[in-house]
Amino acid sequence: MSLNPRLVKESFAVVEPVADKAAAYFYGRLFAESPHLRGMFPPAMDIQRDRLFSALTRIVWSLDSPDSLSPFLNRLGRDHRKYGVVAQHYTAVGNALLATVRRFAAEIWNPEIEAAWVAAYSAAATIMIDSAESESDSPAWWPAEVIDHELRTPDIAVITLRTGERLPYLPGQYVNVQTPRWPRVWRAFSIANAPRKDNTIRLHVRAVPGGWVSTTLVGHTRVGDTLTLGSPLGAMTPSGSGRDILCVAGGTGLAPLKAILEHVIESGRRPRVHLLHGARTARELYDLPDLTRMESDFPWLRVVPVVSRDPRYDGVRGQVPEVMERFHHWNGHEVYVCGPAAMVDETVRRLQRNGVPSADIRRDLVPGER
Ligand SMILES: Cc1cc2nc3c(=O)[nH]c(=O)nc-3n(C[C@H](O)[C@H](O)[C@H](O)COP(=O)(O)OP(=O)(O)OC[C@H]3O[C@@H](n4cnc5c(N)ncnc54)[C@H](O)[C@@H]3O)c2cc1C
Repeated sequence: MSLNPRLVKESFAVVEPVADKAAAYFYGRLFAESPHLRGMFPPAMDIQRDRLFSALTRIVWSLDSPDSLSPFLNRLGRDHRKYGVVAQHYTAVGNALLATVRRFAAEIWNPEIEAAWVAAYSAAATIMIDSAESESDSPAWWPAEVIDHELRTPDIAVITLRTGERLPYLPGQYVNVQTPRWPRVWRAFSIANAPRKDNTIRLHVRAVPGGWVSTTLVGHTRVGDTLTLGSPLGAMTPSGSGRDILCVAGGTGLAPLKAILEHVIESGRRPRVHLLHGARTARELYDLPDLTRMESDFPWLRVVPVVSRDPRYDGVRGQVPEVMERFHHWNGHEVYVCGPAAMVDETVRRLQRNGVPSADIRRDLVPGER
């Protein structure tokens, strides 16, 4: 079976404009043919449908760039272990997917297109299955006990968890979290500390109005509760180059950058590090006491809190990307950016405009942030 990315892309382009309907049909078909799979999915399927299509879109459009596709599929395969996915489930999903594209691209469908989809799906499924199997010696999920829950503002909590077995992660990565209140509803949260010997991790969680998991974590989670964590994921990890570092955080986007900072501290290297943390009000600088303590312990670290919507704030005021630009020249720095999409995009745009190469910029989004 030979891959034909062009045919897959052309037929997927016909399905994309009706993505919502196609996703609803896909799940309807999947659950009609394999009702036992319904129990692996959350009660409300809206976010799940969006996720399916964004993953599928990414896979289809990068079919002819294996260098970026393979790591993505490897991650997906590993991550799917937390749902209890095994190799046989991929057949059921493949059948439902084929039935969906066949139906929604009916006007152009032919045997060549069908063969191209079968080849592409089997190649992708093989990578995911192999990747999941390569991890079969480590847990598919980790129970984690809440050992501390600090409400830093009415809607931001810093939560400390302890896993029984070591969670193998790198600074800057995130984990998917499930709460007992909402079984099978998983949301990503960045780990806010470098790996520790006592198996504890910290999360910085902002409650999104009406949000299932974030409001549960902030408002209805207590010391002694048990959460479930999936495999650590994410590529915003330190390079170890030893160059000076710029970290730009918006809101709880601070979490992975703090983990990277702790990692630098533990490494014994002493590059100059600037950490800019943007928030709307002074009150939302929820981790300032700890950052200030770190700054006074380490003379090579400079912390710059930036407040955007509080005219009475007597520190640095403005939007964090704009403050970053006027503050310093960042050429030659290794840069880490994390926060809401608009802030991350604007920061990266300004850095590039000032000559910082894309290869020196690592970024992650915290979509729950405003
Ligand atoms: C890689 C990654 C790392 C992340 N790290 C963190 C982290 O460290 N800390 C953290 O707090 N969050 C983090 N998030 C966001 C987190 O995963 C959730 O998206 C967020 O907590 C909302 O989940 P929820 O279940 O509470 O809301 P949902 O139930 O998913 O959403 C409920 C409703 O609110 C809407 N909504 C979502 N966000 C907003 C918003 N900001 N304003 C208004 N409406 C909104 C949704 O569209 C939906 O209609 C991260 C996300 C990713 C992808």
